[in-house]
Amino acid sequence: MTCALAGGMCAVAGMMPDLDSGPGIPMRESVAFAAAVVPMVMIHRFNQIGLPLEAMILIGAAIYLAIRFGVSWILKHYAIHRGMFHSFPAMAIAGQITFLAFGADDPLRRYFISSAVVLGFLTHLVLDEIWSVQMGMFGPKFKKSFGTAMKFHGPKLWPNLLTYGLFILLGAIAAGDAAWNERMAVVRQQMEQASRSMQTTPAPWAYRR
Ligand SMILES: [Zn+2]
Repeated sequence: MTCALAGGMCAVAGMMPDLDSGPGIPMRESVAFAAAVVPMVMIHRFNQIGLPLEAMILIGAAIYLAIRFGVSWILKHYAIHRGMFHSFPAMAIAGQITFLAFGADDPLRRYFISSAVVLGFLTHLVLDEIWSVQMGMFGPKFKKSFGTAMKFHGPKLWPNLLTYGLFILLGAIAAGDAAWNERMAVVRQQMEQASRSMQTTPAPWAYRR
């Protein structure tokens, strides 16, 4: 199941950088798809916080609306094609967001799923660069878009600052969360061991319903 999910996430992440390509049916459909899937990815997170079912449904609906309308508004107005969406820090941010949203108890599964997203994103960047080189009569020719996909920073200051700010902020939160996740995994293991050893000793009394 984890592999199937990782495969799906990898495929979707491979399309993600082109969300900056302006309004149209591909963008609308991708954003709608993300809006539907993200709350489901986050279900276990809500469970960990201890939210009741009603709150989970309400928050899930709120996330749907925020992505469906909020994110698509931001993309429409601020995303520039081949801007910072096509860059290594954006790839890291996609991985960090996935890591934070997908709150599996087993840390290894979280790393696996977020690595799948990073891999999918990277594939897109690499392919964009490959397609910007054409073989001409006199050796390779470079299109104008060469070097705009696999990059660490863009030509403008503010998108760079925003991207790196987000990258550092999410990195700090994800690192804290990963440490907590690892600790909880150890605690859970110890509790399981303890409960197993408890089962072998016969109870001195019997419960009755
Ligand atoms: Zn692209």
